[in-house]
Amino acid sequence: MAKCYFPGCESHASTKEHIPPKSFFPDSKKINLMTVKSCKLHNNEKTKDDMYVLANICLNSITETENDASKVFESNVKPQLMHNNEALLKKVFRNPTKHDEKTSRFEIDISRLDSFFDCLTHGVIYKKVNKKVVLENYNVRHLYINLEDIDKDGNVDKDSIFMKKYWQEYLESVELSEVIEFKYETPKGYSTEIYSVRFIGADFIKSLESDSFNSSITVVHKFFGYFVVVSLLTRIVSFANTPIHIAPKNT
Ligand SMILES: [Zn+2]
Repeated sequence: MAKCYFPGCESHASTKEHIPPKSFFPDSKKINLMTVKSCKLHNNEKTKDDMYVLANICLNSITETENDASKVFESNVKPQLMHNNEALLKKVFRNPTKHDEKTSRFEIDISRLDSFFDCLTHGVIYKKVNKKVVLENYNVRHLYINLEDIDKDGNVDKDSIFMKKYWQEYLESVELSEVIEFKYETPKGYSTEIYSVRFIGADFIKSLESDSFNSSITVVHKFFGYFVVVSLLTRIVSFANTPIHIAPKNT
């Protein structure tokens, strides 16, 4: 029996995880969606986090004219908002504060987004190269390019703003060579305008031939041609088995 796609998970795969979930696609575009074999724990469709994440992506991608994001919100998210005593509605529209005359800001539960993007990122990596990273060797961080970095007390996360600005400019300005960038080779009919993914890092080429990943990996997710999430898997360097010793600082 096949193992689950998630790094470190030894459970047998009893379900199929759609990457991203089926609910992200309008009915007319549910064609040749990507899947990986998954255990129940690492299947987002079982945890219902997918609806929370989809609601937030849609709300941030809706424009004044009808687009795919507004269609998906109407058909897939809206009917779910009132279920279980308005559980999803309360989660999505949490702690409102006034933004301007017409609009309000809502507090986003980043830990929910992070656990969703952990699964999606590892899912697309596994789909692409059929290998798992060793989790202990990596720091994983997701940058939500289109979301503001203000917490409920109005504090601004300057580090996050700096990182996001860097990646935004990098992705816009650099004509990435095919050597370091792979587009996911999608099957016929797959709707890349709903979700597309790019992998950045020379290690991706090497990993096709060798057994493991040895350097950092960047995965860029794009939803509805607008909402961008940069997932940084930063390789942690270990000095344990090298002759290099770093002297402690005198204080
Ligand atoms: Zn699993």
